[in-house]
Amino acid sequence: AGSLDAGWAVAWARRTAQVVTENRELLIELDRQIGDGDHGENLTRGFTAVLAKLDALEEQPADVGAVLKLVATTLMSTVGGAAGPLYGTAYLRAAKVTGLPELDSGAVVAMLEAGLEGIVVRGKAGTGEKTMVDAWTPAVEAAVAASDAGASPAAVLAAAAEAARAGAEATTPLVATKGRASYLGERSAGHQDPGATSSALVLEAAAETAAA
Ligand code: ADP
Ligand code: MG
Ligand code: MG
Repeated sequence: AGSLDAGWAVAWARRTAQVVTENRELLIELDRQIGDGDHGENLTRGFTAVLAKLDALEEQPADVGAVLKLVATTLMSTVGGAAGPLYGTAYLRAAKVTGLPELDSGAVVAMLEAGLEGIVVRGKAGTGEKTMVDAWTPAVEAAVAASDAGASPAAVLAAAAEAARAGAEATTPLVATKGRASYLGERSAGHQDPGATSSALVLEAAAETAAA
């Protein structure tokens, strides 16, 4: 596995655009169950805009943080809805702690912690409210545990991605108390949260590109 440098961050953003686009229908369908059915469209629009910005760059970004900042500002201006500001703030916070040529395991943990913090600052959700926080919180916990156990940066991301996936799946029985899904009350139970699902995709893309 290569180092987690600016080139990796670009690969991560590009891979995210690909998986979000591939999962557009799934995310739309999940959001149709408990929201307004636009999550797949919102994220596809946002990450397609990210691709265009990356294609237009004249030189390689200086560090990981510069790439995450580009993603943040692009998502904030193109995604809209709840997810735009939430992901935008996550990437912006993550960018602030990754102004580094290369991420070691501790820096990967710091990046994920900052991302989660951004989502919580913005959306004020705790765990168990059936939101993206339910994917990010176990992801951060798994990343901390892996890093403490001496895992490589790529292995820290793999642990985070696996935990995010499990966290997203565990949102199914929950009753939503934040966001649009909360309008359904008890009827939101029995459906997997779209934002937690897209969060797992984002972190899986990070792990895959780190392992490559
Ligand atoms: P909208 O609900 O405005 O149409 P999206 O469909 O793009 O926005 O995103 C919905 C997702 O946003 C939800 O599935 C949930 O994961 C996430 N979300 C909504 N409100 C919050 C919040 N307050 N905190 C964290 N995540 C939230
Ligand atoms: Mg929606
Ligand atoms: Mg909407």
